[in-house]
Amino acid sequence: MTNIEDFIVPWVRQSEPYSAKHMDFAWQHPDVVRLMSNENLLPPSQKVLDALLDASRLGNLYPDSGPQLRQRLGEMAGLTGENVVLGNGSTDVINFVIHTFVAPGDEVLIPVPTFAMYETRARISGGVPVLVPMTPDFYWDVDAMLAAVTPRIKLIFVCSPNNPTGNQIAEADLRRILALGIPTYFDEAYFELEDQPASHAGLIREYPHMIVGRTLSKAYGLAGFRVGYCLCEESLANYFNRVKIPWNVSLPALAAALAGVEDAVDSRAKRQNIVDGRNYLMEEINRMPGLRAYPSEGNFVLIDASALGKPSAEIVDAMIARGIFIRPMRGHHMAQGFVRVTAGTPEQNHQFIERFKAYIQDIK
Ligand SMILES: *Cc1c(COP(=O)(O)O)cnc(C)c1O
Repeated sequence: MTNIEDFIVPWVRQSEPYSAKHMDFAWQHPDVVRLMSNENLLPPSQKVLDALLDASRLGNLYPDSGPQLRQRLGEMAGLTGENVVLGNGSTDVINFVIHTFVAPGDEVLIPVPTFAMYETRARISGGVPVLVPMTPDFYWDVDAMLAAVTPRIKLIFVCSPNNPTGNQIAEADLRRILALGIPTYFDEAYFELEDQPASHAGLIREYPHMIVGRTLSKAYGLAGFRVGYCLCEESLANYFNRVKIPWNVSLPALAAALAGVEDAVDSRAKRQNIVDGRNYLMEEINRMPGLRAYPSEGNFVLIDASALGKPSAEIVDAMIARGIFIRPMRGHHMAQGFVRVTAGTPEQNHQFIERFKAYIQDIK
């Protein structure tokens, strides 16, 4: 009989399956507060819902490539629709960017800790991740990154504000990386949430090998619709358009995204909710003896809870038992005791703080 294993390409056979367990578990327990996946906890606006229903009436038809949405997103970045390539979430963008540059055996440079999908998707394509640890206080070790560069590196990832550390890379440091001339994916998933939002998308004119990634999942709160995009030079966009699957963003998702970016009132309110929420979380956590919250410009706060002397997974389980999902960072190239919490609604944030305090009290 056929041993199917023998037919699976080696890089797929050797890869770890992505565990959707935490997400499935959360959906099965709707009573538990979801502060584990950096979702926006405010629901879509009425304008988004109206646009969705209108688009859904045409659901028997194939979507276009989203020219209206691309033009709008391009203009918002001071570019054009030709500089925008849409993805089924920006994870899809990350995937087709990897497929464009990385052949099996090629290397991908990734500073860690960071968003796990760079490493996972690189491995699935046969790429070899070269992981460069950030400094002990979680800043990019640019010297170490430059030292890790070989002719086999075909793609570099930089996420800023970085998930899960929350901080931004200084432009001078980014330029040192871009000066290498190697394709560089600069992930701006959280750029709209920066203290003073200042995109680096303009740099693609100076560095045509730079790709700026964005998403509708975080600040705009449309994660369930799966819309992300990248900004890049037209010549590069033409290659991505060959690699990506046509109609990769559904008709309702295109409509929801366009209505979402045009609803300025709603996006302002969503942004303010996150900024207030993360400030509250940071303040409260930093008041807890021995604990440390890292300053964040995203919709999440990284907590060093190692003073509790408990493994991250145990802290997370204890919080789930208290009705709140948070995320362990052990396993994301971080030490024990690090957890990440998403900024939710004021009520959810308050619940998290109260129950976290109660947990700390209980283990004393
Ligand atoms: C959440 C996140 C994304 C977005 O993923 P989508 O596929 O667009 O939902 C991308 N990059 C980073 C760093 C993230 O944290």
